[in-house]
Amino acid sequence: MPEGPEIHRAASKIRKALEGNVIEDIEITVPQFSGRKADFLGKTVNKVEARGKALLIHFDSFVMYSHNQLYGRWTVNLRKTEPKKWNRALRVALTTKKHTCRLWSATDVLLMEPWEVSGHPYIAKLGPDVVIKETRVGDLIEHMNQKKFQKRRLKTLLLDQGFFAGVGNYLRSEILFTSGLHPDRTIASLSDDEKIALAKESLFLSRQSYKVPGITIELGMFEKLRELGFSRGQARHWVFTRNDKECHRCNSLIIHTRPGGRRLDYCPKCQV
Ligand SMILES: [Zn+2]
Repeated sequence: MPEGPEIHRAASKIRKALEGNVIEDIEITVPQFSGRKADFLGKTVNKVEARGKALLIHFDSFVMYSHNQLYGRWTVNLRKTEPKKWNRALRVALTTKKHTCRLWSATDVLLMEPWEVSGHPYIAKLGPDVVIKETRVGDLIEHMNQKKFQKRRLKTLLLDQGFFAGVGNYLRSEILFTSGLHPDRTIASLSDDEKIALAKESLFLSRQSYKVPGITIELGMFEKLRELGFSRGQARHWVFTRNDKECHRCNSLIIHTRPGGRRLDYCPKCQV
């Protein structure tokens, strides 16, 4: 499943293609709004934004919401380029003067009135988004200090979009490593400095991974590892998918666990 950085990268491509542009053609196969073509035609897209793992396309009088779940995918092509043939069903295609943005396979697509957005069940429960630049360390600390999070373990909290929106599986392992925190720690057990570290690293790694796709390791070290012959996949993370390999900081062997059925890798020495 794509994580925040991937969603925001997809959103920024769609934004470049749609924002400020008029919809000149539209194809819809989503049954719930197949009769709404006329609402889109000739209308200008005001704003495209990612919220957690959802994408919102704002028009004057309505907002198109989509959540890709496991299989949904957006593609952006020049208008004259034929879409690639693949095993996905087209849900919506929005065409502007220059581009066509297509949403494939997603089942969670709907149109809302602008005022309904903040009350949508998925949007309403989202925590602060770690990828957008408006989110600050203080926002994350204030959010994590709420009573409802105190007894929960970091390994489960970090996948909860109501905690930090945008963090997914690889970021969970990586944030815990660079914060020096053991996955079993609870929020209540963290010192002030540890909270600051968790907040800072959550922002730093998510944003780096947005700018430099999928790379969470320190960039100088990434280059060095690549020069030594490591593949991109082997070099891009501190601990994630590096189980049984040596920690880059202390040489202990990285441990692999699967809480809730999803991979979590950590260093037994650097994370306490
Ligand atoms: Zn280590």
